[in-house]
Amino acid sequence: MKLNFCSLSSGSSGNCYYIGNEFYGILIDAGISATSIRKFLRDMNISMQTIMGVMITHNHSDHIKGLEVLTRKNRLPAFTTQKVWESIVSPGMKISRDCIREIPLQQKFHLAGFDIEAFPVFHDAPETIGYHICSGNKKITIVTDLGHICQTSAPYIKEANLLVIESNYDEQMLLNGRYPYYLKKRIQSDNGHLGNLQTSTFLADIDHENLSYICLAHLSKNNNTPEKALETLKRTLSEKGINLNGQQRISILNRNTPSEMIRLVE
Ligand SMILES: [Zn+2]
Ligand SMILES: [Zn+2]
Repeated sequence: MKLNFCSLSSGSSGNCYYIGNEFYGILIDAGISATSIRKFLRDMNISMQTIMGVMITHNHSDHIKGLEVLTRKNRLPAFTTQKVWESIVSPGMKISRDCIREIPLQQKFHLAGFDIEAFPVFHDAPETIGYHICSGNKKITIVTDLGHICQTSAPYIKEANLLVIESNYDEQMLLNGRYPYYLKKRIQSDNGHLGNLQTSTFLADIDHENLSYICLAHLSKNNNTPEKALETLKRTLSEKGINLNGQQRISILNRNTPSEMIRLVE
């Protein structure tokens, strides 16, 4: 079975990711408009009919902006934990009752041919989760908003063949930038976001044998550039003596446009 991945949009203005096989697909987050999601999928010849559900990570608007319309117009089932649902469903957010699916933490469930597991990460929302998605012996882990990598999330990250991980800010750009002091502190905190150096240092310490693709995600518009994120990762890996062999690929996910489709073959 194939395992395909593509980012439709990644960053603080909106997140949505597609994972699919020959028959079906799922989305992770719906942080851009439902119209954009439908258009991007159509451009890739992916029918909305094949999308079996959307997995939600947390209640920040850059992850749920399009959720209301997707569930109302497309009747798309949406999956997340009870605690995340409690933080999403408010008088202002009308999610059809019959589209709400509750999932447990750290227990596999099966959807669209995938085994999916949600795990908790540290971030400044009532609850935030990462996803680990398997098809046969191929594994994708997605962690886009987290202040640090804890003992719970680390094993899921280390197991991935394709890793989508946040590289939110360049430490120097944030420090010297215009954000107010309290916001800088919030972003840097253990419940904020991962910086380029934080992500790179973690990746320099793990075994790369099965890690074929690294996608750096959720880059800040104001405190990062794709060049800085990539340069920091390459430099940190080479300082640790990790030489990227020709097999491994690093992508920086675009903020507003879809990435290329990455295909993992079993
Ligand atoms: Zn976010
Ligand atoms: Zn967030």
